[in-house]
Formats: sequence, C-alpha cells, structure tokens
Amino acid sequence: MKKVKLSIKCHKEIEKELDEVFSKFIRARDKRCCRCGSPKRLTASHYWSRRHKSTRFDEDNVIALCFPCHIHQWEKEKQGDYKIYMTRRLGEQKMQLLEMKARSVAKYSAGELLCMLQYYQKKLEVMK
Ligand SMILES: [Zn+2]
Repeated sequence: MKKVKLSIKCHKEIEKELDEVFSKFIRARDKRCCRCGSPKRLTASHYWSRRHKSTRFDEDNVIALCFPCHIHQWEKEKQGDYKIYMTRRLGEQKMQLLEMKARSVAKYSAGELLCMLQYYQKKLEVMK
C-alpha cells in the first residue's frame, strides 16, 4: 500500500493525487463507458465540472466515459443527452440535491482531502 506523507504534501499535491485515485475508482466502478459501452480509453467525467469543488469528489457526480464520448460528445451535452442520462441514473430528487451541492461553496482542508484520498485508496484496493 502506498504511504502518504502528510508533512511534505501540500493541499494542491493532495488534491492532485486524490483526482487521480478518484478517477481510477470511478473507472473501476463503472468498467465501461456509460454512453457507448466501450471498455477502452476510459476517463472520469464530471457532470458538474471539477471547478465545483463541492461535487469534485462526489460519486454521484462522476461517471466513466471513453475518451471520444467524453471529449466529442457529452462534454457539450450537459443540458442535453448527458443530463437525461444522469436524471435516469440518479432520479430527479438526487439530481436536484447534486445541483444544490454543486452550487454551494466547499473548501476542503488538506486533512479532509487526505482522508478522502485514503478512503478511495482503500476502496480501490478492495476492488482489485
Ligand atoms: Zn464511449
């Protein structure tokens, strides 16, 4: 297991590492592109973009999409097909909650990010 050294890691570094681990977790969870079903070139797509810190690491907000679907299709369809898919996946109520969360301001401390990092590292290990 990878050890995380708190003392030498700054907020930005932990967030970057968490982005990577969280993305791996999402791809391991979904296994295939949620749009076309391909298992190749998977990426983690944020319905509410990563700019929204409060939903950046929310499992409901992120799905696996293959690279072509992510970049050429659903990235431009957030009010169209992507929204329809997400509403079907989560249900109306969860979609509304997700929007409220995305629009609220969240600022995670380095300690909170580190907790999430360790949480998803463990989750990933269990999935292997
Ligand atoms: Zn695809």
